[in-house]
Amino acid sequence: MIYLDYSATTMTNKEVLDSFNKASTYFGNPNSLHKLGVEAKKLIDASTEQIASILKCKKEEIIYTSGATESNNMAIKGVCFKYQNRGKHIITTKLEHSSISEPLKYLEGLGFIIDYVNLDNNGSIDLDDLKNKLRDDTILVTISSVTSEVGTRNNIKEISEIVHSNNKTILHVDMTQSIGKEIISLEGVDLASMSAHKFYGIKGIGILYKRESLIIDPLLMGGKSTTIYRSGTPSTSLIVSMSKALRLQYEDIDKKIEHVKELNKYLRDKLSSIEEIHINSTDTCIPHILNISIKDVKPETMLHALEENDIYISTKTACSDDDSYSLSVYSVTNNMDYAKTSIRISLSHLTTKEELDEFVNVLTKEIKKLTTWYN
Ligand code: PMP
Repeated sequence: MIYLDYSATTMTNKEVLDSFNKASTYFGNPNSLHKLGVEAKKLIDASTEQIASILKCKKEEIIYTSGATESNNMAIKGVCFKYQNRGKHIITTKLEHSSISEPLKYLEGLGFIIDYVNLDNNGSIDLDDLKNKLRDDTILVTISSVTSEVGTRNNIKEISEIVHSNNKTILHVDMTQSIGKEIISLEGVDLASMSAHKFYGIKGIGILYKRESLIIDPLLMGGKSTTIYRSGTPSTSLIVSMSKALRLQYEDIDKKIEHVKELNKYLRDKLSSIEEIHINSTDTCIPHILNISIKDVKPETMLHALEENDIYISTKTACSDDDSYSLSVYSVTNNMDYAKTSIRISLSHLTTKEELDEFVNVLTKEIKKLTTWYN
C-alpha cells in the first residue's frame, strides 16, 4: 500500500494504541470520588498537563471534544450565542472546512451576518481586506491556519493583531491541518480547534483550546466534566492516548518537517515534467499537501484508478459535500479547468522517496490510459 492521504487522516501509532489499551484498565469514572475515580482523574490531569506544556498554554485552557468538528461548532456557536448582544457580524473565508461553513450558514438563518474576506494569489487572507471588513459589531473571526485542500497558510500573528485592534472581536483558528505538521503558536489566539486523528492519534478525540479568561456558551450541558464547557464522562483512555500521540509527533519535529519538505520538492520536480499536470499548491503552502490538476481526467476516475494499484489520495477533502469544483483550487489558480480536475496528495514524515517513485510511475501510466480512452 502507498498511502498519500495523511491530511484526511493518519494511521494510529502503535505506541499510542498501546497507551490507549493500558489506560482503558483505569475504568473508573474520573468524576467519582472513590479511588478508582481518583486514579482515572490523575491520569487525565497528567495528560492535560503534558498537552498544555506542548501547546504552551494553561491546562485550564484545554477542553476535550470528540474532534475538530465539535471544536469548531463549539467555538463558533459558543461565541455567537454568548455575545449576540454585542453584535452579529462574523468574518470568515470561503475556504473553510464544512464544520465551520455549515454552523455559519445555520447562524445566518438566525440573523447573524457572515462576511467573506478576500484572498490573495496564494489563497491566503488579504490582510487589508480583513482590516476593511472588521466592524464595531464584529464578534468573531473564524479561519484556519492551513486550508485542507491546497495547504494554503494564513499568518495568524498578523491576523490576530488586526482582529484584536477591535477589543470586542474574538479570533477562532481551526488548526486541524497544522497541528503535528508544524510548530504552532497560540499567542494572540482566543480559540483553536485540533483533532488527534490528524497526528497519528485515535479518532473520536480532539481539543478546543480556549483562552482562560474568555467565556463562551457550552454546546453540551449537564454538569462539570474536565471543564464546565463540555459535559459528559471524560474518556480517560482517549485523553491519555492523545497526549501520547502529541508528544510523539512533536519529538524530532524539525527533522520530520525537513523530511517532508524534501519529499515535497522531490515530488514537485517529478510531477513538473508531466505535461498533463498542473501543480496548484504554491511554494507558500504547507509541504505536507500537494494539490495538482490532471488535464481531462476526472478526479474520481483517477482516485479509483490509483486505488486499483493500492495507492490512496483524495479528491477535494474527504468530508466535502459539494463535488462540482474546488473553490480552494479556483482561488489560487483562477482556472475552472484546474478547479474541476484537482486531486490532493498528502505527505507524512513516514512517506519515502521510493513510495513517491512508484506513485509517479503508476500515475503516469494511468494518465496515458485515461487520456487515450477519453480522446
Ligand atoms: N477542520 C479541518 C481543516 C479538517 O481538515 C477537518 C478534517 N478533515 C476537520 C476540521 C474536522 O475534523 P474531525 O474529523 O476531527 O471532526
